[in-house]
Amino acid sequence: MMPVLEKTFEIKALQIPKKHKIRCSNCGAYGKRIYHNQLTYTECNACDYLMITRTATGEVVEAYAPGIYPR
Ligand SMILES: [Zn+2]
Repeated sequence: MMPVLEKTFEIKALQIPKKHKIRCSNCGAYGKRIYHNQLTYTECNACDYLMITRTATGEVVEAYAPGIYPR
């Protein structure tokens, strides 16, 4: 048995969202980044910026930013 691997599995099974303070790439205010269910949520309350990406690949799932128009 390898105790280290066991511990890693335990942490993954709990799936606690990790929160980080980040700078909004749209307006420069402080926003938050949440890692949850293999997705990364980047939010800014100052300008309504929202971006959801896959944590593993960085692929954008959903993105919204005031002033940036979708193609
Ligand atoms: Zn912002």
